[in-house]
Amino acid sequence: MGLRALLSGDLLRDKIAIVTGAGRGIGEGIARKLAHDGATVVCADVNESDASSVASSLASIGMRLDVSKADECDALVTRVHERYGRLDILVNNAGINRDAMLHKMTDDQWHQVIAVDLTGVFFMTRAASRLMRAAGSGRIVNISSASWMGNIGQANYAAAKAGVVGLSRTAAKELARSQVTVNAICPGFIDTTMTRGIPDAIREQQLAKIPLGRAGQPADVAAVVAFLASDEAGYVTGEVINVGGGYVL
Ligand code: NAP
Repeated sequence: MGLRALLSGDLLRDKIAIVTGAGRGIGEGIARKLAHDGATVVCADVNESDASSVASSLASIGMRLDVSKADECDALVTRVHERYGRLDILVNNAGINRDAMLHKMTDDQWHQVIAVDLTGVFFMTRAASRLMRAAGSGRIVNISSASWMGNIGQANYAAAKAGVVGLSRTAAKELARSQVTVNAICPGFIDTTMTRGIPDAIREQQLAKIPLGRAGQPADVAAVVAFLASDEAGYVTGEVINVGGGYVL
């Protein structure tokens, strides 16, 4: 598959993909892009009605999934395997934030974010890797965050997202012999529900740090996911890719 597939929007034809947190925001953008490029996308989200409405607009299927529950992750991957016979692409996108300064952060705020943003990625990656190892192929793309480098008010979130980087690099090493690639993407400031709650003054400060001069859109992240999920990216693994308009420069 080469230039012709790229031009025809067929890069992911016949691929079976799971996208977590696909009910809105970046996950919805990723699901739309993968479907546009030819994949059959299972839109999984803790909010089943959002997942189903995105899926129905893509002629795909929506499923309820709480990534923080190991049994739900195992059951979803089993259902996909039973229905389609394989799983080619997993995008671990589901994530939450519960921001607070470290000295005020509650136990619940810490545990909730670690459970969804880090343990959820582990549960889904573990379940998917069993199928992908057996198949001798697969693509796993994990959505980390530029915040993994450290960000005020986000000790829980930064710790989880740094954990995703370590998990991705380790999984890349372990799964390389099975031709399964694992990469992490670190979005910067993307215009979604997660960032719309940020107070205006802080929002302006964040936007001023972006050399390309605008907030990112879900489609900006989705384009990179689609490449990493394709056959074209077969020699790219263990990478941590910033998609932030130059935010980290
Ligand atoms: P969002 O608009 O809040 O969407 C997140 C989606 O994930 C929602 O549909 C949410 O469902 C779902 N979700 C939450 N908990 C879940 C769980 N336990 N199991 C399954 N699904 C769950 O967030 P976003 O901005 O699109 O962020 C997507 C990913 O990108 C996250 O991992 C986030 O950390 C990361 N990221 C975002 C930015 C940014 O600037 N927006 C920057 C860097 C990284 P509900 O509707 O029920 O909450």
